Amino acid sequence: MEVSRRAGSLKPSTTLAVTAKARELKAQGVEVVSFAAGEPDFDTPQRVKDALIEALRRGETKYAPVPGDPATRKVIADKLTRENRLPGVTPDHVVISSGGKQSLALLLQALIDPPSPGGAPAEVLLPTPAWVSYAPMTELAQGRVVEIPTIAGADFKVTPAALERAITPNSRVLILNSPGNPTGTMYDESELRAIAGVVARAAATIAPNLVVVSDELYEKIIYAGIPHFSIGSVPEIAERTVTVNGLSKAYAMTGWRIGYLAGSAGFGLKVAKAVATLQSQSTTSIATFELPAIRAALTECAAEVEAMRREYESRAKITYALLKAIPGIVCPRPTGAFYAFPDISCCFGRQSPAGRRIDSAASFAGTLLEEAHVAVVPGEDFGAGGERCVRVTFACSEDEIRKGLGAMDRFIRALR
Ligand code: PLP
Repeated sequence: MEVSRRAGSLKPSTTLAVTAKARELKAQGVEVVSFAAGEPDFDTPQRVKDALIEALRRGETKYAPVPGDPATRKVIADKLTRENRLPGVTPDHVVISSGGKQSLALLLQALIDPPSPGGAPAEVLLPTPAWVSYAPMTELAQGRVVEIPTIAGADFKVTPAALERAITPNSRVLILNSPGNPTGTMYDESELRAIAGVVARAAATIAPNLVVVSDELYEKIIYAGIPHFSIGSVPEIAERTVTVNGLSKAYAMTGWRIGYLAGSAGFGLKVAKAVATLQSQSTTSIATFELPAIRAALTECAAEVEAMRREYESRAKITYALLKAIPGIVCPRPTGAFYAFPDISCCFGRQSPAGRRIDSAASFAGTLLEEAHVAVVPGEDFGAGGERCVRVTFACSEDEIRKGLGAMDRFIRALR
């Protein structure tokens, strides 16, 4: 007896594997500094917790409407209109799901058709290195991932020319993620307008069905003076853009599982309806008593978000300075999210003091964890362009950053 090929062919996430190994070492009493997990180390703002507790006390424990209640969808639509300047977004365009991850998975299911017999699969254009779940989600939806590799020297950002070369008549989705995981970099407004121009031209010629999926989960975690810009606000492509966001990162609410998406105008309504239908036959809705907590987060917690942002800003500076001081390491300056993505290929072909040979990001990360007790995520799983890099999360204390990167520095200097 076997499980389905669909389930059997999916690779488990390396991030979770590294976190598990680090946990195992910790259980053996080894002091490990972990830069592996992708979640804030802050607590959820008290006001948000109170809103949930109050909802429970009021007895708000029954089924909610599938996409979320109208009041909460209105708060989200208002936020997207005011802060992100998305045109044509109403509460009916918004679907709330169990995490940005579920929003993205359902959205790809809603956009991608399986290939017709003898036909070509729908292509999902993915600038890489990219978050690990986009590719498996695409494959589950029976689409084909088309990687567009980017380089450290260009801050791991796709250029309009590279994007243009990758677009074909089968292009269905372009996934953009700014600020980016794992890269820690972000696009500025002019770069996104140039990309929007390429999409608009392609849509008018060879790729009429192209949709932009803009993952803006890290929107609030920015610190280089580059304002966050939503590509869905560009009028020429607004209706063919679906913006995905959530509360996990900005509000330190990873365990709550709250994400949402919204498109615009007529096509946006079709997308919301399709995503809600898929959700209605899988998970129904998020927990009813979380809905008031979303409203509290989005309308009452700006000060807490800013306090966390300032903390990430200071950690980003320290992380970047310490990484740059390690001989041979190349790292774009982190400008958003809470990641640095250094190129550690200067270590390839060298040997650790215990005699382990390093010839890949995975062997670097494995050896660093075993010998220096520092956990980082190897870059291979983030797609083309990631195989020379490791991801360092700085959602941890300044002390841990100094301790862990100090150990990594000594580890690299000791390689033969
Ligand atoms: N998108 C990116 C780029 C992420 O890094 C993550 C989480 O790590 C998500 C989406 C999904 O987050 P969640 O499901 O917690 O909202």
